Amino acid sequence: MDIRFSEEENAFRTEVRAFLQQAWTPELAKRIDADASYPQAIVEWQRRLFERGWVAPGWPRAQGGCDWTPTQRFIYDSERSAIGAPEVLPFGIKMVGPVILKYGSDEQKARFLPRILRGQDWWCQGYSEPGAGSDLAALKTRAERAGDHYIVNGSKIWTTYAQYADWMFCLVRTEASARRQDGISFLLIDMKSPGIRISPIVSIDGEHSLNEVFFDNVRVPVANLIGEQDKGWTYAKSLLAHERTAIAGVGDSKRRVRQLRELARRETQLGAPLLDDPLFGARLADIEIELMALETMELRALFEASKGKGPGAESSLLKIKGSELQQAIQQLMMDMAGLYGAVLGDSGHDFGNEARRSFMYGRAATIYGGSNEIQKNITAKAVLGL
Ligand SMILES: Cc1cc2nc3c(=O)[nH]c(=O)nc-3n(C[C@H](O)[C@H](O)[C@H](O)COP(=O)(O)OP(=O)(O)OC[C@H]3O[C@@H](n4cnc5c(N)ncnc54)[C@H](O)[C@@H]3O)c2cc1C
Repeated sequence: MDIRFSEEENAFRTEVRAFLQQAWTPELAKRIDADASYPQAIVEWQRRLFERGWVAPGWPRAQGGCDWTPTQRFIYDSERSAIGAPEVLPFGIKMVGPVILKYGSDEQKARFLPRILRGQDWWCQGYSEPGAGSDLAALKTRAERAGDHYIVNGSKIWTTYAQYADWMFCLVRTEASARRQDGISFLLIDMKSPGIRISPIVSIDGEHSLNEVFFDNVRVPVANLIGEQDKGWTYAKSLLAHERTAIAGVGDSKRRVRQLRELARRETQLGAPLLDDPLFGARLADIEIELMALETMELRALFEASKGKGPGAESSLLKIKGSELQQAIQQLMMDMAGLYGAVLGDSGHDFGNEARRSFMYGRAATIYGGSNEIQKNITAKAVLGL
């Protein structure tokens, strides 16, 4: 879809392209793709963006952000995804950073924000627990005040990259009040504190990004409490709104579809290009049309945002449709890979391996960031008034 930008916006796009061409090197792409070098390489990517001043599009300029307009953010993201460069890790820049900016004390801002921008600390998100996922307010990890510390006991689950993390932003129960949301607090926990144990969870794709984290009498200084005790639910919710805005992944889906179309032009089936198969062509066209509609929806949300309106129920719609389309693309990739995609482990076939990995991990897209069923409930209430 051709989008008409203003002259200034076009100039910005040229600037973004020039920077990405120089900063997103094939060598870095290779290191990010390999499990062993991923942690250092993703931090290196963040450092390159930081040095250009572009690591935190949504932060105010005075705090090291770039104060981009929603359209500039859209342009950057389209250009980034078109060449396959990753987003920065969300936990610091997109999640805890905005919470500290809005609700943190001056000391907390001075201590944590510069390190988040430079990627010096790796953050993880300690929200979910066994028995508290969609129903997050059911969380049970306790923090009891003892002088100038909290003593934390309990466990978190599905904690992405806890094994690399220096810090966790964590929801804990500080009061067993009648309304469950009222007794929750937002703590910053040093992952090197005595009493923390991390247990890996290997997911269906064979990868280790998820973990369980156990807390056994972990001492956390009261200075690491964000805002007021028992008011953490408010801060936690503001973070979730940020989490859902960029979740449609339109740019990345467009790149994948372009790759599939290219591959289908080269691959043959019974002597003819796969792309000439009417059934295959129709499936691909369906996805492309839906993707175009999703992009239009995203642009509409962008237009609202440029008038100063925050993300509303449309972010739920973007999440639902975006993740469904990601899964439709992964399904098509698996069908194209055929038996190569079915091999668990290395099939010796690059596309087959990629199809299997992205299909397997892709199952999670309709679960994380608030499951699609929950997003449908939100939409039913906020849009349909049910
Ligand atoms: C890859 C991945 C990474 C993650 N990373 C993190 C992380 O870093 N930190 C973190 O804190 N959490 C993380 N999570 C956890 C994620 O936030 C939860 O999995 C999610 O909130 C769902 O919770 P649950 O798994 O407990 O499922 P449940 O809440 O038990 O839901 C099970 C099923 O029931 C449905 N359901 C539940 N309630 C309703 C309802 N009211 N109406 C209709 N349907 C309903 C759900 O949609 C789902 O299909 C991650 C999850 C995944 C898959």
